[in-house]
Amino acid sequence: MREVLRVVFLVGLVLAGMQPAHAAELAVTNARIVATPDAEPIEHGTVLVRDGRIVAVGKTAAIAIPADAEILDAAGGTLVAGFWNSHVHLMAPPLDRASAHPGDVLSERLSSAYLRWGFTTIFDIASPPGNAIALRKRIAAGEVEGPHILTVDMPFFPKDGKPVYVPDELGGWNARLAEVANPEDAAARARRQLDQGADGLKLFGGAIVGGEVGVLPMDLDVARAVVEVAHAAGRRVFVHPTNADGLAVAIDSGADVLAHTAPQAGPWPEALVRRMVGDDMALVPTLALFEVEMRKENVPEPILAQAIGTTKQQVAAFAAAGGTVLFGTDAGYVDAYDTSEELRLMHEAGMDWRRILESLTTAPAAYFGHAQRKGRIADGLDADLVVLHGDPANGVDAFADVRYTLRGGRLVYRAATGN
Ligand SMILES: [Zn+2]
Repeated sequence: MREVLRVVFLVGLVLAGMQPAHAAELAVTNARIVATPDAEPIEHGTVLVRDGRIVAVGKTAAIAIPADAEILDAAGGTLVAGFWNSHVHLMAPPLDRASAHPGDVLSERLSSAYLRWGFTTIFDIASPPGNAIALRKRIAAGEVEGPHILTVDMPFFPKDGKPVYVPDELGGWNARLAEVANPEDAAARARRQLDQGADGLKLFGGAIVGGEVGVLPMDLDVARAVVEVAHAAGRRVFVHPTNADGLAVAIDSGADVLAHTAPQAGPWPEALVRRMVGDDMALVPTLALFEVEMRKENVPEPILAQAIGTTKQQVAAFAAAGGTVLFGTDAGYVDAYDTSEELRLMHEAGMDWRRILESLTTAPAAYFGHAQRKGRIADGLDADLVVLHGDPANGVDAFADVRYTLRGGRLVYRAATGN
């Protein structure tokens, strides 16, 4: 029996070797290449990819394309580095049970939610324990097509602070288990999650519990315990701020990323922004989220307009002070994957197309420690690439109009209208 299996295995290897599979070399040709957010575009440019990495970038005429390379003609399009969505949740079906669903079901959702919008890397910032890591393994094994996944795994809620909008049960997991009572328990769980493969941690600095309490701030010592463990491991800590108290927890605990702006905190004064930027904090605006949420609650238009105005002021002040802005949408919590509205609101908050491209590419790659492999189009970097139909310099909505997405040199999304 063992001998038979061995023969089958060897025949399999031979057959695999005979299949054209996908060419080891691929050239994306004739594009307008914007290699980094501050680079001058290369017109009629080509990027050559070998074994998943970028090996040449330049004018098409100047690049020797091997005769057997696969060609992806991007004429008329703009080629940029693969996007990061730095605020998503792998907790909506079917992605809440990564081990239970067939690969094609998961692939289809990951494509429509992320690859189709140019995201080659996503940061899951709270989902059922072990779920994101299980999904990442299935993607690495080739069973599922999807983006590169980073995760904080299970979040940290204050004691009795499970947010009112988080269901009691998520993907077979009791969400109350994410509550943490004291610094010792918090530190122990933080260590365990990082040991098990989490790429960062997430605190609810201000948890919306409703009722008379409204927003419950996290105990500062609990927050500090989590931050200390994460920083000792070289990892970032996200905080859900909600209001001024939650924002204070984020700042005073030494946490890193504000996972949202905070309409309830009011406009941010200059001194506060200076402090946050000075502390090397990053901000994920999630501007469109508030609009979606408030419309769901039938919040009167003038109040909605004022809240959106506040969040835009926060982004504008933070960006103007040189703060690190990371693009993120809260996709998976909200069932809205189209990035157009977020792009429009960020632009209204004063971010030009280059600054928005930075929030999608170089800023998250650098902030999360992946700048050597991701975020730019340069020799030696991962071939995570996006071809846009249009030119973002003519309007930032071009970032939502994706023609091709490549991850690690593989074409993982092609628009129906592509070519
Ligand atoms: Zn979220």
